[in-house]
Amino acid sequence: MDRSHRVDISGLLAGGRQLMVIADEVPIEPFEGIAFPDPVRVALELREADRMLAVEGTVDARVHGPCDACLEDVDLEVHVDVDERLDPSRGRDDDPFGESNVLTGQRLDVADLAQQAVLSTLPMGLRCKEDCLGLCGICGANRNMGECSCDRAQ
Ligand SMILES: [Zn+2]
Ligand SMILES: [Zn+2]
Repeated sequence: MDRSHRVDISGLLAGGRQLMVIADEVPIEPFEGIAFPDPVRVALELREADRMLAVEGTVDARVHGPCDACLEDVDLEVHVDVDERLDPSRGRDDDPFGESNVLTGQRLDVADLAQQAVLSTLPMGLRCKEDCLGLCGICGANRNMGECSCDRAQ
């Protein structure tokens, strides 16, 4: 992962700076079959709030990959409103799967944060459409294209 997308938040947490603005384009590695063809656009404001790191802003990404149900290619624009409180005292070293795992020490991993924000909007994985019918379990035909003649009642 590109180290240049780690932001040092120690000054912010020390109270030296009131607000830190991140406006960046972050390349993100493919993850679980989902590719990010363009760098993800990140616009975030960071501030310290009661010993927590408040992260607010937006993440915009184009995602590409196969529909989980019918395997057709899906191209999707994803917009995420980010509004999180991260606990700098519980970073990745303490809690690898917690919400604050995008923090390592006093560094915020913007690429990780953007990736998690995008994936959190795809709880079912990629879908070509909400009511995708998927593939026939018998002949493998794409049922969105019309029903095959298989008897799936068996
Ligand atoms: Zn589909
Ligand atoms: Zn069939």
